[in-house]
Amino acid sequence: MDSQAKAPVLGIVVPCYNEEEVLPETILRLSHVLDRLTEERLASRSSFMLLVDDGSRDKTWELIEQFQQSNPRVAGLKLARNAGHQSALLAGLKRAAETVDCAISIDADLQDDTEAIREFMLRFREGYDIVYGVRQSRATDTAFKRGTAQSFYKLMKKLGADIEYNHADYRLMSRRALQQLDRFKEVNLFLRGIVPLVGFKSTRVYFDRHERFAGESKYPLKKMLAFAWDGITSLSVTPIRLVTLAGFALFVISLLAALYAIIQKLAGNTVSGWTSLMLSIWFVGGIQLISLGLIGEYIGKIYKEVKRRPLYIIEKDIAAEAETARKAG
Ligand code: UDP
Ligand code: MG
Repeated sequence: MDSQAKAPVLGIVVPCYNEEEVLPETILRLSHVLDRLTEERLASRSSFMLLVDDGSRDKTWELIEQFQQSNPRVAGLKLARNAGHQSALLAGLKRAAETVDCAISIDADLQDDTEAIREFMLRFREGYDIVYGVRQSRATDTAFKRGTAQSFYKLMKKLGADIEYNHADYRLMSRRALQQLDRFKEVNLFLRGIVPLVGFKSTRVYFDRHERFAGESKYPLKKMLAFAWDGITSLSVTPIRLVTLAGFALFVISLLAALYAIIQKLAGNTVSGWTSLMLSIWFVGGIQLISLGLIGEYIGKIYKEVKRRPLYIIEKDIAAEAETARKAG
């Protein structure tokens, strides 16, 4: 068959932050997956995994270097400091885009079922540019995480951001989708919200989410909330509009209140009015502060964007050596 000669080069991009406990297992499993895909001619022999060390403080990078020595499927990229999951992912995707036909992003902790990768590749072969991995069940997440995630997706939809329900960053993107992604220059990076904006033909693959294989979540509540907030304010201006609406509503209410006060005055009912006065001062003051804060939030975002700081800094790039090894081997 002709298609056999042209099996696509797949790069699996894995952001890793202090993942020494899971990494050996992750590499093993992904190697198996890649080997099987190669056998089935769903991916070319030069397919690989790109492990992006996001400024880990443990032995993650040493492990990556070690594995790259012995396993030609392993390529490494080291960021100079912890840039965060989204930036690390972007660094990896951009690097991979230089050599691949398609890239799949997956977390290092094996929570996302690696079996779905084969499904992804089948869809890619059918001509889809973007394949979203969608969590079928979140039984292994805590009720709290499920609840908060659920409300987050709902809120995002309400706010007018088009994000894929129950999809995290487990997805396949074709080379041309990656190239288009590269044109989104935002610093407040929320890939889940941006990828749908790229367009092209997309589809979903459903999978079950597992427990973290080892180690603990690198997304404590604080980071999770910051991430959600970033997602909302970088994709939607609805919050700022709501503030304006609230302002208008308050204006109308205060007019009515004034009217009421005048009528009372004319009727001769002396109003001591202290309570209502104090209440309204505090109420309006509060609303004003909230509004100012919100506006400040957006201005802060603009400030960050105009500075155009690099999202991440690459310290070491040993992916090319891995490629040479693959070609030789
Ligand atoms: N991660 C990263 N940089 C960070 C935090 C996390 O590269 O600053 C990686 C982490 O190694 C993992 C992925 O992002 O591969 C998702 O993190 P985690 O599994 O801890 O998040 P959770 O699944 O608990 O939301
Ligand atoms: Mg995880």
